[in-house]
Amino acid sequence: MELRAVRGMNDILPEEALRWHYLESTFRSHAELHGYGEVRTPILEHTSLFTRQIGETTDVVEKEMYSFERHSDNLTLRPEGTAGAARAYVEHGINAKEPVSRWYYLGPMFRAERPAKGRYRQFYQAGCEHFGDPGPLCDAEMIDFIAAYLRKIGVSGFAVHVNSLGSAGTRERYRAALVEHFAPVRSTLSEDSQRRFEKNPLRILDSKDPRDREASASAPSILDMLDDADAAHWKGLLRYLDVLGVPVVIDPTLVRGLDYYTRTLFEIRATDADLGAQSALLGGGRYDNMVEGLGGPKVPAIGFAMGLERLLVSTPASPVTRSLGCYLAPLADIGADKALVLARELRALGVTAEVDGRGGRLKAMLRRADSLGAHLCVLLGDTEIARGVVTVKNLRAHTQDELPLEGAARALCDRIAAIAGSTGTDNDEARGAR
Ligand code: AMP
Repeated sequence: MELRAVRGMNDILPEEALRWHYLESTFRSHAELHGYGEVRTPILEHTSLFTRQIGETTDVVEKEMYSFERHSDNLTLRPEGTAGAARAYVEHGINAKEPVSRWYYLGPMFRAERPAKGRYRQFYQAGCEHFGDPGPLCDAEMIDFIAAYLRKIGVSGFAVHVNSLGSAGTRERYRAALVEHFAPVRSTLSEDSQRRFEKNPLRILDSKDPRDREASASAPSILDMLDDADAAHWKGLLRYLDVLGVPVVIDPTLVRGLDYYTRTLFEIRATDADLGAQSALLGGGRYDNMVEGLGGPKVPAIGFAMGLERLLVSTPASPVTRSLGCYLAPLADIGADKALVLARELRALGVTAEVDGRGGRLKAMLRRADSLGAHLCVLLGDTEIARGVVTVKNLRAHTQDELPLEGAARALCDRIAAIAGSTGTDNDEARGAR
């Protein structure tokens, strides 16, 4: 049988990886500009971390986790990054070391969802967690941070949906109001919603099933039920977002699929990209009780996670290309020896170099150099080596001359820099260092 990748899990091949690098490196520098430092937590965690923090009645925990037992530990491939980050925050007693911590992460997550465009079983998230600040200022700043990142990478259209889920007391009152609202129509709801009716009626609002949508349309709004402290937080958030000029859609039906959220909740949806039902580029919110729930002190927190696959679909197929500085074409055995050494010297100077090790005809080698976008092709034939020179073809300007083999690396490096200067390409690109 032909072996294929697991359904819903994708290979990212080198050409495509260039666009990933762009999104990732831009995210890293953007996060660091805002004072975030990278955290790397294990991909496997104890299953109970997710069942307790994400919530027993969420889709993720009920049916999407990749869990298994090994050496009598129940383990799960992480379906998201927040629970692991909060676990690490508590485990390392970070709150005793600093009052506020800003962390970011990047990496693969795993959910056994039904694969579709923009929905995979292994997917990549970039996210941030901000611990230790209870106020709405940091909520607004985080949303602005994300909007600035999306603009930076060229996401053309997006809408910021915000809501407040209030604190525990508000949630309890809202839960009771929803039970009262849905009770008379309970039997018309989808099977999932009927099951969740008592345990977690907020999730009915999140359902895409038309039967649930109809019943939800007239449901009470949580924004009308916020207590004074929740309402002050909510107003503060909207005011700071206004100060920052971030337009938002106030969306009381936004509940999102994870149970740990408190107060501020947000989701950013693509409005232009062709993502079908998977238009949510990212989601996030406050989770003021998680650190305490994990056995730590009472430390408020807020975070978000965005799916890189969805960002790729929403950004222009950017002009990121791999370009090669020098292609080395040895035309004889002795040429191969010299090419190996010359390539190593070029790379030490920061010039990308590739040696054609297959031998063969000059024409084929030139074709390959061209297809790789090389700036210079260096020919190392018997007669050249005997005379202590190499032939250099400029593949862009279609010119050709000779250089002494001795000191060729430095001379080639200077030529590449000159090409960069004359064509306006930056030096890195001309060296092929990108
Ligand atoms: P969540 O962790 O469910 O709040 O999701 C946050 C973001 O991660 C979503 O807005 C998506 O961009 C991305 N995401 C979640 N699940 C998947 C998936 N199965 N495939 C691809 N991206 C996903």
